[in-house]
Amino acid sequence: MLSERISLKTLTISILVAIGMVSIFLLFVTTIYFRDAALNSQSQSLSRVMEVATQEVMKQTHDQLFNLGSSFQNRAEFRTALEQFYQGKGDTALREALDDPLLKGFVGAAAVDLVKLRAYDLDLKLAAQSEAGIQDLPPNSLLLDQAGQRSGSERLKALGGLWISPATPLYSVLVPVGGLKLTGYLEVVANPTFNLAAVATMTRMPLTIYSPTKKLLYQSEDAASGRGAKTLAVEYTLRAGNWEAAYRLVSLDNVTQLNIDMARTGMIGVLAFITLIGASILIGLLFLHRFVFQPIRNMQSEMERSAQGDLSVTVGQHSLKEFNALAAAFNTMARKVESNIQELQRLSSVDGLTGVNNRRHFDLSLQSEWQRAQRGNQELSLLMLDIDYFKQYNDTYGHLGGDDCLRIVSALLRETLQRTSDIVARYGGEEFAILLPDTPEQGAQFIAYKITAELARLNLPHAASPLGGRVTLSIGCATCRVKPDCPPEALVAAADKALYQAKAMGRDRVVAAMEEIAVKEAKE
Ligand code: GH3
Ligand code: MG
Ligand code: MG
Repeated sequence: MLSERISLKTLTISILVAIGMVSIFLLFVTTIYFRDAALNSQSQSLSRVMEVATQEVMKQTHDQLFNLGSSFQNRAEFRTALEQFYQGKGDTALREALDDPLLKGFVGAAAVDLVKLRAYDLDLKLAAQSEAGIQDLPPNSLLLDQAGQRSGSERLKALGGLWISPATPLYSVLVPVGGLKLTGYLEVVANPTFNLAAVATMTRMPLTIYSPTKKLLYQSEDAASGRGAKTLAVEYTLRAGNWEAAYRLVSLDNVTQLNIDMARTGMIGVLAFITLIGASILIGLLFLHRFVFQPIRNMQSEMERSAQGDLSVTVGQHSLKEFNALAAAFNTMARKVESNIQELQRLSSVDGLTGVNNRRHFDLSLQSEWQRAQRGNQELSLLMLDIDYFKQYNDTYGHLGGDDCLRIVSALLRETLQRTSDIVARYGGEEFAILLPDTPEQGAQFIAYKITAELARLNLPHAASPLGGRVTLSIGCATCRVKPDCPPEALVAAADKALYQAKAMGRDRVVAAMEEIAVKEAKE
């Protein structure tokens, strides 16, 4: 399973790094979003600027056309021609009068692109129109409707507006003819595309003008070359009087500086964020290391020592509550295991240090072997062995060296004894007892000598011993043919006494109990 292979540290670092990366990605997305929002808002405010400029241009156009119309209707030729038309003398003179400015020019011709002049009677019926200019121009119903709804002096106020002819959008102004004594109306029609070019000058931005049918009507010089990645296209739609789209004006705003500013702000934001995230991760890891990883590692090594058998190890206190509880639980468990092991050792038959039988097992075996011997009328021998000058051995080689010596001697005793019925036990300290069931006195002594001989052959160094500088044993032997009046305690006492004698006689020797305890009686 994956979780068994990944360490807590790796997992934590991975999670932190993933969170950091997601955050940085989100920041990038946010930056892009803000850039779009900024461009959008820039575009909207510039579109408003274009609207104001365009309306201003249209107002100027209106005024220029009105002035043109006002001065034209004052012309004597025109008034006379209109008079003649009313008198039924035909419209030829009127048409010529209307053609005149278009063919010969007029004051202010440079300011407008005049395309038609049309004269109407008082009922707004077309009297005549110039032949020059746009051909087949339909009636400007928008303007005529507007005028038709007015009456009296209201009609004296010039009407004007943008309208869409089949060819192109046009601007018309309806000027009253005749001053206070109204005799008709004059429609001055111009192509406002010509005037709209001024929007570029007013907004100081490259400008392109399209018709509603997407036909290119005008393009400023810089607009042709200026379009590119660093420009923002800003649009404004100019509508005719009937709210139909008449012109689409597209300006180009240079956003190089805006882009640079946005990029710089974005970069600083991302860098600051990365630094922040990095620092947070680092500080987080330091804290985790101090409060989690390090304590876990310490606990792990303490627990491993414990697992290897050193139950004296105590898992230390930690700064985190959970770890403290864990350590306390582990310590309680270790103490429990330790005391259980001690209890088990006490209850078991094996001596913890040497691996031979313990005193408890020896005592039980002595009873049972004694009873068995009594039943079978057999001899039961006992050897009591004590390492000579063992105190000095400890003093010379240290307590652990002494423990090793005890293990070596125990192993030697076990190896020397052949019969499975023989029982080697650690009687206490550096003292051993060997119970030899169904073994006569000679046999027991033979074994005792064999042991001393094997030990001599092993030649374990004991620098502090006056007995040849090697480890030696004193052995006391006792044998009894079991009788009701020879209790097992007597056998132990006899062997112990013989051992004492061996010590007294100078150690490194075997002494057999020559006493009563039924041995002699049995023999005699
Ligand atoms: P003697 O020749 O008279 O037997 O002298 P000794 O020094 O061997 O006897 P003594 O009874 O004076 O000392 C026995 C020593 O054995 C004392 C104790 O330090 C040591 N001893 C007892 N049990 C152990 C043990 O389990 N391990 C170690 N290393 N030493 C032990
Ligand atoms: Mg002793
Ligand atoms: Mg001793």
